[in-house]
Amino acid sequence: MTLPESCDVLVVGAGPAGSACAQMLARAGLTVCLVDQQPFPREKVCGDGLIPDAHAALARLGVAETVAARAHPVERVACIGPRGGRVEVPGRLAVLPRRELDQILLDAAVAAGAEFRAPWRFEGLLTDAQGRAQGATLRQGDAVHEVSARWVVLATGAVPQALLAAGLCRRRVPSGVALRGYVRHPAMAERLKAMEVVWHRSLRPGYGWIFPGPDGVFNIGVGIAHSHRTLVDGRSAKQDVNLRAVFDAFCRHHPSARELVQGGQWVGELKGAPLRCTLEGAHWSAPGVLVAGEAAGSTYSFTGEGIGKALETGILAAEALVAGGEEAAVRQRYEAGLSALKPRFDLYEKANRINAHPWLADLVIWRARHSAGLRRRMAGVLEETTNPAKLVSAGGLLRLLMPMR
Ligand SMILES: Cc1cc2nc3c(=O)[nH]c(=O)nc-3n(C[C@H](O)[C@H](O)[C@H](O)COP(=O)(O)OP(=O)(O)OC[C@H]3O[C@@H](n4cnc5c(N)ncnc54)[C@H](O)[C@@H]3O)c2cc1C
Repeated sequence: MTLPESCDVLVVGAGPAGSACAQMLARAGLTVCLVDQQPFPREKVCGDGLIPDAHAALARLGVAETVAARAHPVERVACIGPRGGRVEVPGRLAVLPRRELDQILLDAAVAAGAEFRAPWRFEGLLTDAQGRAQGATLRQGDAVHEVSARWVVLATGAVPQALLAAGLCRRRVPSGVALRGYVRHPAMAERLKAMEVVWHRSLRPGYGWIFPGPDGVFNIGVGIAHSHRTLVDGRSAKQDVNLRAVFDAFCRHHPSARELVQGGQWVGELKGAPLRCTLEGAHWSAPGVLVAGEAAGSTYSFTGEGIGKALETGILAAEALVAGGEEAAVRQRYEAGLSALKPRFDLYEKANRINAHPWLADLVIWRARHSAGLRRRMAGVLEETTNPAKLVSAGGLLRLLMPMR
């Protein structure tokens, strides 16, 4: 199908951020062209875990029931420390492979009236004499097409090429990297009901996970925070960490991981991908452009959860555009929405110290096993009603060491 010549808003990237944005814009009556460099359905390397913020956004987008009908429901996150201590935190959770989730979100955007075209790769912005974006250049093989648009929303995820091409990238390297695979093990699915998150010295500075998905298939993976460091001359280099080796260590040290990979059947290969966190690494907007989702760094550091916040930032971008007004007012409204979220992202960045010092996980887990109040606070972190950094701040640690109430 050919691309339209023009539209009100060109949304680039049909992940959660782009599809959420496109749906809300189309619902409000704007003409929307949504493009992606990959044909759909497509895979996205992810843990596939849906936490409460994602459920809330899915409900706003009118797809909560469709997702619930396919997703594997989960009621608890099991936090497991280096010494094997375990505490289970209740929450509204689910697991659905991104190949399916993203297709549901895209279908909803198209049903609302957005026009979807793929595979088209964003190559750069079209600008007027003042440098304001007027649309974009898109490529499919040898074919190059220009789409003019009043606004462009870049929702291109954690890979920085589109940001670089648009001149909006502030930090080329990612905040972290992660690796995941799928293993079918119906017998274990009868027993392993929680989303397991595991800290261990061999996984430092990161963690491992096993999430039970639909049809007896588990998503198993490892993630490393702060995977790149800045050199004295300002360039960046990848830390000396081999994700495959970290994954092997996870399977050696964590009994469920060992049992899963030894007794289960691999579905596809282990695949890695970058993460961009803490609402950092890119300009949030430019004349005629808004940046949404992980392209704007909307994944939480510490937990690597990002689907919910990608959806939220996509919705925020749409709301700013629908409210309309002068160019500056639209950008200001959107950036104010992201600024309101930023303190929470900063707290997750602080809580990241658990990944670097896994003994902290032992301490929190040991204490939580004996304190209903602390378990409630941990559930509050999931529900976004408790400040996650308080659990591992100096004051929070002191409280953990004090006699229990
Ligand atoms: C291993 C791993 C595990 C994770 N686990 C979880 C988890 O369990 N739960 C959770 O909530 N989050 C998790 N995350 C984070 C989550 O995957 C991201 O936060 C989320 O995908 C961000 O959504 P997005 O829409 O911003 O970007 P994406 O989902 O990455 O979508 C971006 C889209 O843009 C397209 N695109 C990119 N460049 C171009 C271009 N130049 N032209 C056209 N199209 C382009 C891509 O093809 C893609 O479809 C995990 C991440 C990783 C790497």
